[in-house]
Amino acid sequence: MIEEIKADYCIVGGGIAGILLASKLIASGKKILIVDQGPQFSEEDRANMLLKSKENLNDFADYNDNVHPSVVTPLSSASPEGQVVEWTNYRLFGIGGTALHFEGIMMRPTIEDMSVKTLYGYGRDWPITYSELEPWLLKAEYEIGVSGNDDNPYASSRSKSFPMPGHAFSYFDSEIFAPALKKIGITGHSCPRAINSIPYKGRSGCLACRACKFCPSGARYSPDRVHVPILEKHDNVTILDNLSVRKLETNSKGDKIIAAHATRIQDESPVTILAQNFIVAMGGVETPRLLMLSANNGVHNAGLGNIGGQLGLGFSDHPTPYITFDVGQSVGSRLGFETMISDHFRTQSNRAEQPTFSMFASPAMDWFPVGNEATQWTTQNNVLSLENIHKGIPQMATLSAFTEIEGKGILELDKSKLDDFGSPVTKITMRLTDWDRRGPASWLSWRLK
Ligand SMILES: Cc1cc2nc3c(=O)[nH]c(=O)nc-3n(C[C@H](O)[C@H](O)[C@H](O)COP(=O)(O)OP(=O)(O)OC[C@H]3O[C@@H](n4cnc5c(N)ncnc54)[C@H](O)[C@@H]3O)c2cc1C
Ligand code: SF4
Repeated sequence: MIEEIKADYCIVGGGIAGILLASKLIASGKKILIVDQGPQFSEEDRANMLLKSKENLNDFADYNDNVHPSVVTPLSSASPEGQVVEWTNYRLFGIGGTALHFEGIMMRPTIEDMSVKTLYGYGRDWPITYSELEPWLLKAEYEIGVSGNDDNPYASSRSKSFPMPGHAFSYFDSEIFAPALKKIGITGHSCPRAINSIPYKGRSGCLACRACKFCPSGARYSPDRVHVPILEKHDNVTILDNLSVRKLETNSKGDKIIAAHATRIQDESPVTILAQNFIVAMGGVETPRLLMLSANNGVHNAGLGNIGGQLGLGFSDHPTPYITFDVGQSVGSRLGFETMISDHFRTQSNRAEQPTFSMFASPAMDWFPVGNEATQWTTQNNVLSLENIHKGIPQMATLSAFTEIEGKGILELDKSKLDDFGSPVTKITMRLTDWDRRGPASWLSWRLK
């Protein structure tokens, strides 16, 4: 017999979106069920990952290493055209989701970002204005705990300051990055972070220990540490981990989801979830995929809710091109995260002609503990060895940009490749347009080719 679970609200996906929504629904008194196909990590798991990361002298030890292999849903990587992006190891599967290891940069959109079609002729306008969105951004900042100063001359208005002051600028940011920006008339300002600069709501302030992916002090926001313990105190909330939702079922008219069909990861037993409301919060890849996998031969032939045929189109990301260069002086140590950013090119560029971007910089080699930079150099067949990097680049810095792209990526099912449950995996093809290539993404077009 198939196990049946009933709830008023079923939230599929225990990432930051699902967990925050659940925490807002508590007060309704309704029965809330959160389902995630990954596990709930313990503090011991986290400590072991940190230890492994330190022992191996790389920062690739990560949460997905500690989950059942069926859970880490692969992406297809074969494509005749465009750039196929391998995100398998960046998305995290487990309670807390990808925000378990995010960097916590809390960028807000600008007023102009909300109307790009009207103002500049590309992309789409938001259906709401910045002033309608702003109170919600503020609520999220206070809920999560964001540090930042009101020193960004390029930002759109805020109705209230950040919940915490910004982090003191690092040596690199105050002594090297800010003066370099100033020379060319650009302002560097605080970088809003979901990392406590001072103790906040019972959590520690940042201790500058540089292990941010696992943040032993809890200063960096992580949904499983902050909101899950609140949810667990309420009898009307149930969190089920290791339960993978495979298909959503609608009523015969096709206008309401009535059931989710799921499989327990450990023993592959089937579970049917019946709920009044379903919220699909499985992230930007798995959400459209589940809608595609839930196509039926009645109303939703091309995927659940895909009335306009837009499902999977307009897939986007923010490429982060970077260059590493010799500063000509010692750059000091990386704090673990950048304290300064510049939004200059988010407002001061001719946006109809080229994409906007934010810029930040940091000492190149000092990722925790050696990490990305060393690995990038070696995998790109550079002659530098880890040892040489240790000795040779104390003067090297990395300048990076978060850049806007038009969003012409395509997400589709690859029926030639199945996951462990027999469902087609997702293929994402990022397509960069000529406009995209006029932005800083072109710096690194060799990497994307
Ligand atoms: C390295 C890195 C750094 C980042 N830094 C920043 C940053 O500084 N600032 C910022 O704003 N954003 C950042 N992001 C992006 C941000 O982390 C994500 O956009 C955000 O965490 C997504 O949250 P989500 O809840 O929508 O989805 P996710 O976090 O992906 O959560 C989805 C959940 O759904 C579950 N799930 C998936 N499929 C199923 C299924 N079939 N059944 C049941 N459960 C399922 C997954 O296990 C997962 O827990 C970063 C991302 C990465 C990878
Ligand atoms: S430096 Fe990173 S790991 Fe250390 S307390 Fe601050 S946010 Fe956490």
